[in-house]
Amino acid sequence: MHSNLSYVQPTANSPWGTYLSQVDRVMPYLGRLARWSETLKRPKRALIVDVPIEMDDGSIAHFEGYRVQHNLSRGPGKGGVRFHPEVTLEEVMALSAWMTVKCAAVNLPYGGAKGGIRVDPTRLSQQELEKVTRRYTSEIGVIIGPQQDIPAPDVNTNAQIMAWMMDTYSMNTGSTATGVVTGKPIHLGGSLGRVKATGRGVFVTGREAARRIGLNLQGARVAVQGFGNVGSVAAELFAEAGAKVVAVQDHTGTIYNEAGLDLARLVPWARSHGVADFNGSERLDNEQFWDLNIDILIPAALEGQITADRANRLKARLVLEGANGPTVPEADNILASRGVLVVPDVICNAGGVTVSYFEWVQDFSSFFWDEDEINQRLDRIMVHALNQIWDTADRHKITLRTATFAVACERILTARQERGLYP
Ligand code: GLU
Repeated sequence: MHSNLSYVQPTANSPWGTYLSQVDRVMPYLGRLARWSETLKRPKRALIVDVPIEMDDGSIAHFEGYRVQHNLSRGPGKGGVRFHPEVTLEEVMALSAWMTVKCAAVNLPYGGAKGGIRVDPTRLSQQELEKVTRRYTSEIGVIIGPQQDIPAPDVNTNAQIMAWMMDTYSMNTGSTATGVVTGKPIHLGGSLGRVKATGRGVFVTGREAARRIGLNLQGARVAVQGFGNVGSVAAELFAEAGAKVVAVQDHTGTIYNEAGLDLARLVPWARSHGVADFNGSERLDNEQFWDLNIDILIPAALEGQITADRANRLKARLVLEGANGPTVPEADNILASRGVLVVPDVICNAGGVTVSYFEWVQDFSSFFWDEDEINQRLDRIMVHALNQIWDTADRHKITLRTATFAVACERILTARQERGLYP
């Protein structure tokens, strides 16, 4: 499993360890291309930067920042930037690798990259947040660019942060480089539909998967972990389709309502308070979330949430991975053997980067599409990709995750081989 890199020691369930084991599983299906497998097991480039800022109280604080470009064989790097107090180089490496696989799985002309800053943004003032963002952007400015590597939002980052990143890069290069980041505000070259795109993609792939396994969405019981941009939008779309969102868990706690939570009130409430104490729900212990009688589980928070123990307890028939890396390899085996269908992150949450691609294309052509067109194109791309993956899974009798890796890695390694080794 180990790619023998001196700078990271993955464990079986750590993000990079999880990714490596996913790569190992796909090797038997890659034929002669497996010769290039090591390409997938080490990032092309990893940059660690110091991000010093002057805090509002006059002190100097230093934060650790990263930008990892896992693979650039099929196009410029693409992937979000995460602000979280527990971000590590290892985690960003895994997230960047999942972006490589994700972009190839939906056939976007991108490689994979990811960035992060080890910081708790809830403890920063707006001014401190802006300073951290700008200094980080300036530090990684040597490797990003509209044709090099294009950051986007991820956990705890948003359109405002993208606007600061775009402005900083533009100031440093003497340009107005809207194409350097995606997920920007609409009047700064952002795209309609981008904010909801990841949640929408989770819904579209979930709708298709449910149809194929004969699970009726009407009255289906859904539980969502993580109620940010991905989880809350997916929940709303499932509720619109007739499903009942019975449980939601976030960092403030777990809430439950047998009749279905009132999302029209919960979504705005959760934005300012978190889900806990929502009037119209009962409170559960966090661990009870995994024992609920549900049909669909949407993990849309952080990595490593579906452990072996939780996989054994889970009652859902369908797991839709809105988060990146929510299922550890051992749990993946358990879910497969229990007949639980997992639509893996690398296709399930690809809606975000797909509309990021639309945004980047619109910025280059300076011609902007309406929201219907964006949502229709998104739907078409996601359904087409899922169909291809489903056929591959059927043909080889493998999980959707391994099938997604098979489709994606064939594209990545074919590009690698065709380009050849330089010099
Ligand atoms: N952060 C999102 C992801 O994990 C989107 C990345 C992008 O739009 O580049 O897929």
